[in-house]
Amino acid sequence: MIETDIIIIGAGPVGLFTVFEAGLLKLRCHLIDSLPQPGGQCSEIYPKKPIFDIPGFPEILAGDLIDNLMKQAEPFKPGFTLGEAAVDIEKVSEEQFIVTTNKGTKHSAPIVMIAGGLGVFEPRKPPIEGLENYEEKGVEYIIKDPEFYKGKRCVIAGGGDSALDWAIFLSKNNIASEVSLVHRRSSFRGHLDSVQQIMDLADEGKVNLITEAEVVGIGGDGKVENVTIKHKTEGEIQKETDHFIPLFGLKPSLGPIANWGLDIEKNAIKVDTLDYSTNIPGIYAIGDVNTYTNKLKLILCGFHEGTLAVQSAFARIYPEKKNVLKYTTVNGVTGF
Ligand SMILES: Cc1cc2nc3c(=O)[nH]c(=O)nc-3n(C[C@H](O)[C@H](O)[C@H](O)COP(=O)(O)OP(=O)(O)OC[C@H]3O[C@@H](n4cnc5c(N)ncnc54)[C@H](O)[C@@H]3O)c2cc1C
Repeated sequence: MIETDIIIIGAGPVGLFTVFEAGLLKLRCHLIDSLPQPGGQCSEIYPKKPIFDIPGFPEILAGDLIDNLMKQAEPFKPGFTLGEAAVDIEKVSEEQFIVTTNKGTKHSAPIVMIAGGLGVFEPRKPPIEGLENYEEKGVEYIIKDPEFYKGKRCVIAGGGDSALDWAIFLSKNNIASEVSLVHRRSSFRGHLDSVQQIMDLADEGKVNLITEAEVVGIGGDGKVENVTIKHKTEGEIQKETDHFIPLFGLKPSLGPIANWGLDIEKNAIKVDTLDYSTNIPGIYAIGDVNTYTNKLKLILCGFHEGTLAVQSAFARIYPEKKNVLKYTTVNGVTGF
């Protein structure tokens, strides 16, 4: 059981900044995120895009903003459960919640802050019969650790940046023993530079490029051993492989949070703007995941919401203590 003061569900920019604001009040945080890395939409969708409306930064890359937020949170030593989705919440007493992930990791705290943004990013899965039987047995929808594929034969499917980038990475760095890239069309949606690199790697024989084709079947005894690829004109071939990695992007969905008894409106959690508390005392919702009159889904609004929510959380945990606002310029930042 991981014990902390505040469980933050979602390690996007809002969850990360909330660690800092909670730390100033001497409250410890533990973040849970279904993605393998922190940063939410900024890291997953647009790490290389510049953002122009973060106060004090005329321009900052989304990925750099996340690096800075991680650095800012560092003195307060947040804990992380990454690559696991929070699927269940239980109120075990007036002062204690237990949040459990899909992998069974349990977290306990008096306060839960939901900073789940657009929700859990779920992989878009190709319609292949029996595919789910091979999940985690050779079928992966996200590459968490490229070294996992050392010396393995991999069939990657997809035509966007993710499929191109990983096909390049696994082949160029001699990680996988064989890389095949299967794409429905003859042209790719990814960056021109990545497309050129794939073409060059295919010419050098380092990537087996199969376009105008789809993976339509999967087979193996208890683990992936082969896939069936259907080519537009040449028919079906069976290819032996150790891994099948469909990278067709991720789609967000509020997921299990929708079933936790919270007031939901249009796929978002209704909150009281006094302190961003939900209808369940002790649970707050901040950032893109919440809704109220005049809500703006902006990072700076989420920062404000997290700041007010931790003040309220402090009062809940320590009803007898009075919290006086202290400027960081006066008090500095004293970590744990
Ligand atoms: C292309 C693009 C450009 C943008 N440009 C700007 C801009 O210029 N300025 C601006 O202010 N905003 C911009 N935004 C919006 C901004 O990215 C969001 O407002 C911001 O990311 C919200 O932060 P968040 O922390 O609330 O949620 P998110 O960034 O969505 O992070 C939420 C995290 O929660 C996790 N999660 C959800 N449910 C669970 C669960 N049950 N268990 C575990 N983890 C869970 C998700 O995996 C995710 O990592 C842009 C968005 C996009 C897509």
